[in-house]
Amino acid sequence: MENILFIAFTEPDGTLHKTALEVAGAACELSQQLGAALTIGLVGADVQPAANLFAASGAKILAVSGADFSQSRYPTDAVAAEALCRAAAPTIVLAPASSRSSRALPGVAFRLNGRVDTHVVAVANQAGALSISRWYYRQRMEAVLTRAERPWFLLLESGCHVPYAEAPGTAALENIAVAVLPQRTTVTGVRAPQSDQQTIRPDAKLLFVAGAGWTKKQPDGQMHVPDAEKLVLGFIRQSGASLGSSKSLVDQSGEGQAVFEFMSHLNQVGQTGATPRHQKGLSTCCHGEEPHVVGWRFVNERRAVNLDPNCGWARGKADVLYVADAFAVMEAVNALLQK
Ligand SMILES: Cc1cc2nc3c(=O)[nH]c(=O)nc-3n(C[C@H](O)[C@H](O)[C@H](O)COP(=O)(O)OP(=O)(O)OC[C@H]3O[C@@H](n4cnc5c(N)ncnc54)[C@H](O)[C@@H]3O)c2cc1C
Repeated sequence: MENILFIAFTEPDGTLHKTALEVAGAACELSQQLGAALTIGLVGADVQPAANLFAASGAKILAVSGADFSQSRYPTDAVAAEALCRAAAPTIVLAPASSRSSRALPGVAFRLNGRVDTHVVAVANQAGALSISRWYYRQRMEAVLTRAERPWFLLLESGCHVPYAEAPGTAALENIAVAVLPQRTTVTGVRAPQSDQQTIRPDAKLLFVAGAGWTKKQPDGQMHVPDAEKLVLGFIRQSGASLGSSKSLVDQSGEGQAVFEFMSHLNQVGQTGATPRHQKGLSTCCHGEEPHVVGWRFVNERRAVNLDPNCGWARGKADVLYVADAFAVMEAVNALLQK
C-alpha cells in the first residue's frame, strides 16, 4: 500500500504559498483515491501557522523547524526533507515545484535511493496504482507514466489543482530534531539586475531578434562582434524592445565561439525556445528557419533584415524583408532613435 508524504517549505510568516496548498489538495485527494496514509511534513523557521491550516485534515503532521531552516539553502533544506522522509517512510513524496524544493528534493531522492519527476501536472489513480502526467521538451510533449521504484518524489507545477481549503484550527505537530552542521552559506539579500539591464521584456510592443549572423564573418572577411554587441544593446536600450535570439546564437557559448555576453538560452525563440506574444517583430541576421519561426506564431507584424534574398523570411514568413546589411541598418536606426 502507498504511503504519501506532502512536503512544503513555509513562507516567512509561517504560512504556506498558494502553490503549496494546491499540492496539499492533490495529496489529500490522492490519499483518498489510493486508500493511502497521508503525512504532512513542514520545514521553516516557524511552522505552526502552516500546521494549523491542516488541523481538520486528520493527517499526521511532522515538522523540522527553527532559525536554521528559515532560508532557502541546499544543505539545510535537504537534511530537513531527508529527516521528514526517514520519519514518515513514504512511498510517494509530493511537493510544489518551487525553486526551493526543486533544488533540494532531487538530492534527497538520491539519498533515499528513490526516483524524482519534475514538471508533474497531474497525479491519478489508474486501476489502483499511481500514474502521473508530466511535460517533456519544454512543454511540447506530455507523457503519462508510472514507476515501480519507491520512494517516488513528485514536484507538481503550479495551477494544476484546487488549493487545499479546509477550515483552519489548532494542530498538534511532532517536531523532528535535525542536527545541522555549521553552515558556510548565509543568504544576506537578493540582488536582481536593474530593469534596463533585463533584455527579456514580455510587455514590450516589439520583439527584436538577433541571429547568429551578427557573430559571423562579414563581407570584409572579418568578424565584428563588439560592434554587433553595441548595435544590438544600443537598440534594445533606446527602443525598450524585448530581445530574442535564434538557437544558433545562444548555443555558441557551449562551442567556445564569440558570443554576446548579455544573451542566454532564456532569450531563445522557437520550437525549443519561447513563443513570445509581442505585437511586432524585427529579425536581424537570422535565417528564419522553421524551427525558429514557429516561435513567432503569436507575433503578427513581422519584418526581417537579411543579406540573403532567399532566406527563410522571404518565403512568406515575414511581411517585409529588407535585403540589407543589418550592421548598416541598425546603425542608422540607432542614430535616428538617438535624435
Ligand atoms: C529539433 C530542432 C529544434 C530547433 N529549435 C530551434 C529554436 O527553438 N529556435 C531557433 O532559433 N532555432 C532552432 N533550431 C535551429 C534552426 O533550425 C536554425 O538552425 C537556427 O534558427 C539558425 O539560426 P540563425 O538563423 O541565427 O543562424 P544561421 O542559419 O547561421 O543564419 C545567419 C543568417 O544571418 C544572415 N546574415 C549574416 N550577416 C548578416 C548581415 N550583416 N546582415 C544581415 N544578415 C546577415 C545570413 O544571411 C544568414 O541568413 C532547431 C533545430 C532543430 C533541429
